[in-house]
Amino acid sequence: MLSAEKKKELEEAIYAFVGKPIGPPFTGRDVVNEPMIRQWCDAMGETSPNYLDAVAAEKSPHGGIVAPPMMLQAWVMQGWEMHEGYDEPKNEEHRLHKLLTDAGYEGVLGTDTEQSFSRYLRLGDAVTADTVIEHISEEKATGAGVGYFITTRATFTDQNGAELGWMTFRVLKFIPNQPQQAASDDDGAAQPAKPARIKPPMGHDNSWWWQACTDGKIQIQRCGGCEKLRHPPRPMCGACGSMEWDAVESSGRGTLHTYTVIHYPQFPGYEFPIIAALVDLEEGVRMMSSISGCDYEKVEIGMPLQGVIHEDEDGFALPIFRPREDSQ
Ligand SMILES: [Zn+2]
Repeated sequence: MLSAEKKKELEEAIYAFVGKPIGPPFTGRDVVNEPMIRQWCDAMGETSPNYLDAVAAEKSPHGGIVAPPMMLQAWVMQGWEMHEGYDEPKNEEHRLHKLLTDAGYEGVLGTDTEQSFSRYLRLGDAVTADTVIEHISEEKATGAGVGYFITTRATFTDQNGAELGWMTFRVLKFIPNQPQQAASDDDGAAQPAKPARIKPPMGHDNSWWWQACTDGKIQIQRCGGCEKLRHPPRPMCGACGSMEWDAVESSGRGTLHTYTVIHYPQFPGYEFPIIAALVDLEEGVRMMSSISGCDYEKVEIGMPLQGVIHEDEDGFALPIFRPREDSQ
């Protein structure tokens, strides 16, 4: 822990960042274009002809292809080099994070985002983002550890300077909780407990699903109005608007839709590399999970998978997927 004096110094330094732009406004490397829209729609399972079919889109109220509003940030994504070399900050946000990292607040977790869209983007629009550090909370104690919530706000404008929308993004920069001391072993010597996985937020709308995992089941929510299946759990059916629902048990059989291999940063409580997987379950919903029991170099999109409930040493249960040998 920091001394009171060091903490006062740190807080003076970090709060000086509030209101600062993270750097000069950044204009996207590519204007709004069909290939990027198509790839985004593929990845998200978005099929609206307004985004994908020039002929159909021309007859729509838009009068031509438009980009999905949720893509707004995609147009101003910077290259990987922007994020490489954490020790050499490249903008004010990095400098702020480094101050906290150097003071022991090493963890970082994205917590929430809000977005607002002013108009649809059309082919050829050029998007510029102007991002400021909007707010830094006082120090808070959280389940992950003690830290500061940092909110950045990006304002997006077009080639004429007109606003296209905005996005806030909040992260927690925190000192990871120390592993708790476990009960003494037979020799009476205290053994430090192994660090555990960071637990997902569980609330009114999803804690039933995690409870089912503890009971050994992978559940899929089913609309009480139109019987459409949906995942992850949420209060309302996106197809018919019904708030009635029940759940069916998944067979766990699925195929790999896409994946990414996470090597770094290596948080305590996880085995690396993590094969983060988006799985198409045979019932027709898609689930975010991970693959184990398979070398990451052997992972292939489309491979058959079997979901099972895995229980961590601390008793936390969650679905993971393994390669499925039979192909029936
Ligand atoms: Zn429904």
